[in-house]
Amino acid sequence: MKRKATNWLLRILFSVLFIAALLLGIILKPILSYANKTHYKNVAVFHNEPLNTQFTKVLDQALSDLKKSELYRQNLHLDICLNDGSNYPKLIKVLRGPAFAWGFYNKVVLQGSMNCEGNYVELNGYKWNLAQLLAHEMTHCLQFDCYGLLNSKPFADIPNWKWEGYAEYVARKKGDQNDLVKNLDRLHQSDSNIWEITLEDSTISSREYYNYWTLVQYSLDIKHWTYQQLLDNASSEDKIREEMASWYADKKAENEDKRICAQKTMRATN
Ligand SMILES: [Zn+2]
Repeated sequence: MKRKATNWLLRILFSVLFIAALLLGIILKPILSYANKTHYKNVAVFHNEPLNTQFTKVLDQALSDLKKSELYRQNLHLDICLNDGSNYPKLIKVLRGPAFAWGFYNKVVLQGSMNCEGNYVELNGYKWNLAQLLAHEMTHCLQFDCYGLLNSKPFADIPNWKWEGYAEYVARKKGDQNDLVKNLDRLHQSDSNIWEITLEDSTISSREYYNYWTLVQYSLDIKHWTYQQLLDNASSEDKIREEMASWYADKKAENEDKRICAQKTMRATN
C-alpha cells in the first residue's frame, strides 16, 4: 500500500515537473506561439499579423529613452511579443494577471490592443502611450539583465516604488515630463478619487505608478543619486515623499516670488 502511494506521488511529481518544463519552454521560445519573427536592431518582434509599418518608428522612440538608463547594455537582446492573435499573451495573462503589458527576463509582452498610428495601447477603454509602455517594460528587462533573476522582483525584496518608479522614470521623457514641478502640479490638480492620471496626450498612468515615478525622479534628478544608490539607500518611501513635498513647496514659493518680481518689473517699465 505504502509503495503504491509512493508510486502515485512520484507520477504526480513528474507530471508537475513535465508541465512546468513545457510551460517554461513555451515562455522562453515565443516563436513556438507565433507565425512571424521580425528583427529590428537588437529586438526580435514576434507577431501573427503583418507588422505595422509605424511600429519600428514607435520602437525607435522607446529605444532612444531606454539608452539613457544607466542599466543599458548595447548588446542586450530583447523580445517583444505582440497581442495580435497568438495564445502567448493569453498564457502570460493567465500566469501574471491582466495588464497593459508585462516585462520580464528579456521579454516584453503586450496585452492590450495596439494602435501604432495613435501611439497607444488600449485596455478596457483606457489608453497607455505605446512608446512609453515599451520603454517601461524594456526597463524591467534591463533590471533583470543587470541584477539577475533572483535579485529582481518578484524574487527579491525590492520596494515596488523603486522597481516600478524607475521603469516609469526611464519611459516618461516626453514634453515637459522631465520637469518634476510640473509633474507634481499635475498630481495635485488631479482628482484623488480616481485611479488614473491623464497625461497631455490623453493617455494615462495609474495614480500608483505616477506617485512612484515622481519619487524616483526626485531621488535621481534632484538628489542626483544613481539608481544603484537609490536601491542601496534605506530611506523609506514616506521619508522621501516628505522630503519631496518640502522641496516642492520651496520651489512653488520661489516660482511665485519670481512671478511677482517679473510683474513689478513690467509695471515699472510700462
Ligand atoms: Zn512595470
